[in-house]
Amino acid sequence: MASGQMSRDEALECTRCRHACHVMLYSETATQLFGRIPIWYIVLMQMRFDGLLGFPGGFVNPSEETLEAGLTRELLEELGVAVPVSTEDHVESCFSPPRSGTCSSSSRLILHFYVKKIEEEQIREIEKAAASTAADHGLEVLGMVRVPLYTTKSGGGLSCFLSHSFIGVARSQLVNSLLRLHLVSPGDLREALRGSQRRHAESAQNLQAQQ
Ligand code: AMP
Ligand code: MN
Repeated sequence: MASGQMSRDEALECTRCRHACHVMLYSETATQLFGRIPIWYIVLMQMRFDGLLGFPGGFVNPSEETLEAGLTRELLEELGVAVPVSTEDHVESCFSPPRSGTCSSSSRLILHFYVKKIEEEQIREIEKAAASTAADHGLEVLGMVRVPLYTTKSGGGLSCFLSHSFIGVARSQLVNSLLRLHLVSPGDLREALRGSQRRHAESAQNLQAQQ
């Protein structure tokens, strides 16, 4: 296990820790961008109140509810749909990073990450509900976003998306899941990561030039 990582049961032994659960919901799709670029999969993330990209979910108190019931409650608030999540959907638990984006055992916040595959129709229902009936819409959640997994001729797509700013370990949770679930090939992912680093460096230079 990577440093700061633990099993779900080990994590629950820490009764003084706070716990937060988040989930990556995704589906297959046959739709094509511009009628020719296959999208393959729809992966849902959200623009958070703090301007960072992250996965839906939030704080759970394991003394009052199971991690999964708490996550489903959070999903009802943020998405307007109580998507059921089970222990089988659990991927990893780790201490929240202080700042660096990697897990840290000095933290008292444990993050639990889940992945759940659903039908495309359910994704569409979630997107509608998230913008209409979800209690957190326009407050904690500014909008749901789909992750572009493709790369366009001009180099846009996944690499651009990865060059945005993410909450905590959300970026590595996304990248690791894309790789593990074979949603993007290792070669394409490597290219997208390189591209996002280039873009990041360029935008840092642009920002400096504007000051
Ligand atoms: P939330 O209520 O969704 O903001 O999540 C509860 C806590 O978890 C907050 O302190 C967030 O900063 C933190 N958090 C949310 N998502 C992630 C993530 N993917 N990686 C690290 N920390 C996160
Ligand atoms: Mn949240």
